[in-house]
Amino acid sequence: MQVPFKINLENKVAVVTGGGGILCAVFAKALAACGAKVAVLDLKKEAADAVADEINKSGGRALGVQANVLDINSLKEAKKTVNEKMGKCDILINGAGGNHPKGNTSKEYFEDGDLDKEDIMTFFDLDPEGIKFVFDLNFIGTLLTTQVFAKDMTGNKESSIINVSSMNAFTPLTKIPAYSGAKAAISNFTQWLAVHFSKSGIRVNAMAPGFFETNQNKALLRNTDGSYSERAEKIISQTPMGRFGEPEELTGTLLWLIEPKASGFVTGVIIPIDGGFLAYSGV
Ligand code: NAD
Repeated sequence: MQVPFKINLENKVAVVTGGGGILCAVFAKALAACGAKVAVLDLKKEAADAVADEINKSGGRALGVQANVLDINSLKEAKKTVNEKMGKCDILINGAGGNHPKGNTSKEYFEDGDLDKEDIMTFFDLDPEGIKFVFDLNFIGTLLTTQVFAKDMTGNKESSIINVSSMNAFTPLTKIPAYSGAKAAISNFTQWLAVHFSKSGIRVNAMAPGFFETNQNKALLRNTDGSYSERAEKIISQTPMGRFGEPEELTGTLLWLIEPKASGFVTGVIIPIDGGFLAYSGV
């Protein structure tokens, strides 16, 4: 893949969770294009392998590894494989994340009479299991993965952790309280971990993507006929640049945050990459 600029990641090992997904596959390819050996971790082995194969076929070095970010033993097993086949982890991208319909309300606003309507998922119907799933996947998944892989980084002054937050962390979007809260936890944890690891040389930062069309949000952004949903139109109208982002537009921030010569004094920040969404008041 074409990267906007090259950093030198020869002899570095990068671990990308959720690497079989849309955004993280692009992160994995960008890191490989800069010379890193990339471990593509995903719950879905075929998805991880497909991304790794693509990287290997284009001259990079990658390995697809099955891992569940919610299962410490699965992560430890993945680390063993990565260490044996590639070496110690220098760069960790905590990309696995997502939402669950049981953590969503079906309407933006609660209105009188909604309690009597059976087809509506109100605030009062939110399922604790759905909420827990979303908090676990995003927050616990990031925490456990970091516990396992950051052990390789202690004492390595050029190591870096990048978490993936969201616009929801700054201001929650309507309908998705669990995802919003879980991503706010990611931003907060990024700051906490940056301070905690500051003496070890491990820098910890996050990217907060605005809106990118991926598998995760397809159902929310497209009608069955392929046209934009009402919500997609609303998002675009609140994005000053008037469009969704392209995954490749995240790679400049990713590489900048990883390269110590460019961002060696940067830790604990959450960078919005959002076409101006966060800056816009809507008026
Ligand atoms: P995606 O659904 O394409 O990719 C997510 C990947 O994570 C999938 O391949 C999935 O198999 C994997 N995964 C799910 N559960 C897992 C688990 N328990 N263990 C390991 N892997 C698991 O989604 P995406 O849009 O590319 O999202 C990547 C990250 O970016 C997520 O953290 C998401 O919340 C975040 N994000 C996305 C957007 C957007 O607009 N798409 C915006 C902001 C933040």
